[in-house]
Amino acid sequence: MIKIKKRKFLLLPGDGIGPEVVGEVKKIINWFNKNKSLDFEIEEEIVGGASYEKHGTPITDEVFYKALESEAVILGAVGGPKWDDLEFSKKPERALLKLRKELKLFANLRPAICFKQLVDASSLKPDLVSDLDIMFVRELTGGIYFGEPRGIKPIDNGERKGINTHVYTSSEIERVARVAFELARKRNNKVTSCEKSNVMEAGQLWKEEVQLLHEKEFKDVELNHMLADNCAMQLVRNPKQFDVIVTDNLFGDMLSDEAAMLTGSLGLLPSASLGAKDKNGNMRSLYEPVHGSAPDIAGKGIANPIATILSFAMALKYSLDLDKESNMLEKSVQNVLDEGLRTKDILSKGTKEVSTSEIGDAIISKLQ
Ligand code: NAD
Repeated sequence: MIKIKKRKFLLLPGDGIGPEVVGEVKKIINWFNKNKSLDFEIEEEIVGGASYEKHGTPITDEVFYKALESEAVILGAVGGPKWDDLEFSKKPERALLKLRKELKLFANLRPAICFKQLVDASSLKPDLVSDLDIMFVRELTGGIYFGEPRGIKPIDNGERKGINTHVYTSSEIERVARVAFELARKRNNKVTSCEKSNVMEAGQLWKEEVQLLHEKEFKDVELNHMLADNCAMQLVRNPKQFDVIVTDNLFGDMLSDEAAMLTGSLGLLPSASLGAKDKNGNMRSLYEPVHGSAPDIAGKGIANPIATILSFAMALKYSLDLDKESNMLEKSVQNVLDEGLRTKDILSKGTKEVSTSEIGDAIISKLQ
């Protein structure tokens, strides 16, 4: 079999259920290497609490530089009660924030997909969410979470003032909007841009810049502007009206969590964080499940690995342009759900409970 270019992944399993769910991705990578003309090279390193225990820091410089050099980073999850009382700079979550910030991952992609097999897990009526497929593009490195000035300051009369600054530049808006338009072209060709242009100047700029880019480069894509509060309402009223939603850091944080709940289970939701492309077309990227380290179920072999497996499928599509392999993997997940195999978190009447590794093996068997 002729092998093509080596593709480099860095696996960072992290803490809690992280190693269990990333372990299933490792099995899938090995399957691709053995059965397809692909050559994935994987390296594995510790981050988060595991790294703190060994090195006294949530991420070492060595691991950080490996992340800079990989084509894609696949992360499990970090954190746990054991490390809750550590000082801020040593907390496991700092590893993740450092990676997002230093790799300049400005676009966070979170699909909200409701598999028809799991429609009962949603709090909405089945016909509203069955086959739902929304892609959120959240700006991740700007806006009110990073804007200056910020802080808590004493003022007159013994009172204090809390300050955060919501700030965006034209280029920050344009680059994330470009990601959204390009994604829409590969999907249903529709972008909804959300802001609060009625009450915020930064929202007005957001709307204008998205509109300008649309007129310049993406006239073929349908564009709608929507106020973020209306979007929150529309997501529970008629979520299937959306294809790609692009919004800022703050509104994206809330709206994507709201949409996640339409789909029912945390164990199924993948995400991707993407940086800018360099002149050779290469892009920094980090893929991770939306869920955390789930310390309550760690080590029991019952964690759902599907969110991490679907995150790997996103890596195949967005970082390596392997759309065919990505679709194959997504289809295998669907087939396993069709057969009624479920981890405990998504178990329902008439389905069969299986372990983390059993569902991973079943997905691999469908790849055959
Ligand atoms: P969590 O997502 O870890 O767990 C919430 C609930 O969902 C738990 O009951 C858990 O058992 C369940 N759950 C989560 N993922 C699951 C899966 N794959 N399969 C089956 N059940 C699953 O959130 P939490 O409990 O708020 O946080 C636990 C730790 O994770 C904290 O230390 C938090 O800081 C950290 N955290 C890390 C990340 C990350 O690494 N990106 C994200 C969120 C939370």
